[in-house]
Amino acid sequence: FDAILREDQGAAEKDLSAYKNVWVFVEQREDKIMPVAIELLGEGKRLAKEIGVELCAVLLGEDIGELAKDCIAYGADKVYLAQHPLLKVFTTDGYTKVISELIQAEKPEIVLLGATHIGRDLAPRVAARVDTGLTADCTKLEIDQEDKKLLQTRPAFGGNIMATIVCTKHRPQMATVRPGVMDKAVSDAGRSGQIIEVPVNLEKKDIRTEVIKVVKSDKAMVALEEAEVIVAGGRGLGKPEGFQLLEQLANRLGGVVGASRATVDAGWINHDHQVGQTGKTVKPRIYIACGISGAIQHMAGMQGADIIIAINKNPDAPIFGIADYGIVGDLYEVVPALIDGLERV
Ligand code: FAD
Repeated sequence: FDAILREDQGAAEKDLSAYKNVWVFVEQREDKIMPVAIELLGEGKRLAKEIGVELCAVLLGEDIGELAKDCIAYGADKVYLAQHPLLKVFTTDGYTKVISELIQAEKPEIVLLGATHIGRDLAPRVAARVDTGLTADCTKLEIDQEDKKLLQTRPAFGGNIMATIVCTKHRPQMATVRPGVMDKAVSDAGRSGQIIEVPVNLEKKDIRTEVIKVVKSDKAMVALEEAEVIVAGGRGLGKPEGFQLLEQLANRLGGVVGASRATVDAGWINHDHQVGQTGKTVKPRIYIACGISGAIQHMAGMQGADIIIAINKNPDAPIFGIADYGIVGDLYEVVPALIDGLERV
C-alpha cells in the first residue's frame, strides 16, 4: 500500500511564491558528468515542463566550462557554473557552502541530486542549511496535478511499502534519486542556453578536511550500473567459488557479475556488486539471476532490466514472477550448459 507522509506538519507558513525552477546538481568526477546527472537532467526537464518553469543545472569544479555546454545539450536552460581551485575535488564543506548560498540567493522550487556517495553526503547538509526537508533515495517523482507539488516516492519500512512524501511548507523541495532509475536525457548539441558564472566565496579555512589522495575503486564498481548484461548470483550458489562460474558466463556475454545481499553478507563477494534496495539499481538489457529467490528488496534494484532470465531449482521462487524467461534447475548444471552453448556459437 502507499503511504502519504507530510514531512513538515506543524511548521510555520512561509511565503513560497518566490521559489521557481527545477535544479539538478550535476555531479562530475575528473571532468566527466556522472551518468546519474544525465538521468536527472532528463527527469528534471520533464518535471520543469509540467510545472512550466526552467531547468537549471548546478555544476561545481575547476576548468569545467565544456561540461556546462554538455548540460545545455542534455536539456538545461541555464547552468550555474561555480569554478574554483577549492572545488576541483568534492569536499562536503566546500560544496555545501557554495550550493546553499546559491539556493538562498536564487530560490529554486525543486532541487534534485543523485543518491550517490556524494549526493547522500551533500543533500542533507544543504537541506539543513537552507531550512527545508529532504526525501532521500527516491525511485519515482511526479507532479501533483492539482497543486503542482512534487510527489516524491521511495521505498520505506525495509522496502515493504512505497511511501510518497510531499514537502508542504518549505522550499525548495529536495530529493536524492537513485542512480539507474530514470531514463537518461538525450544530448542535442544544437540546443542553446545560458551559462551563469557564479562568484565563489570560498577560502581554505571554510573546508575542514583535505583530500590527500584519491584511491580508485575496482572496475566492477563502476561497471555495474552501466552494464548491458549482468549475471547475478544468490545464496543458491552455495559457496563463494560459485561466482567464478558466473564470471565465465558474464565474460562470454560481455557483462559483469552482480550479487544478492545474502552473498555479500556471507562475505562471498564485495558489496560493490550488490543489487537491490541497499545495493545498486541497475537497468541492463539482460539480467540473469542465478540462485536468487527474488526478495522484494532485490527486485527493487533490477526490475527495470529489459529482459530478466531466472535460473532457480525452486519452481515457486518469486523471481519467476517477474522473469521473462525461467529455467527451473540446478544452476551448476544450467550455467555450464549455457557457457558451453555460447562457446559453440
Ligand atoms: P535466498 O532468498 O536464500 O534464495 C536462494 C535461492 O537459491 C532460492 O530461491 C533457492 O531455491 C535457490 N537455489 C538454491 N540452490 C540452488 C541451485 N543449486 N540452483 C539454482 N537455484 C538454487 N537483498 C538484496 O539482494 N539486495 C538488497 O539490496 C537488499 N536490501 C535489503 C534491505 C533491507 C532493509 C532488508 C530487510 C533486506 C534486504 N535484502 C536485500 C535481503 C533480502 O530480503 C533477501 O534476504 C535476499 O535478497 C536473499 O538473497 P538470495 O535470493 O540470494 O537468497
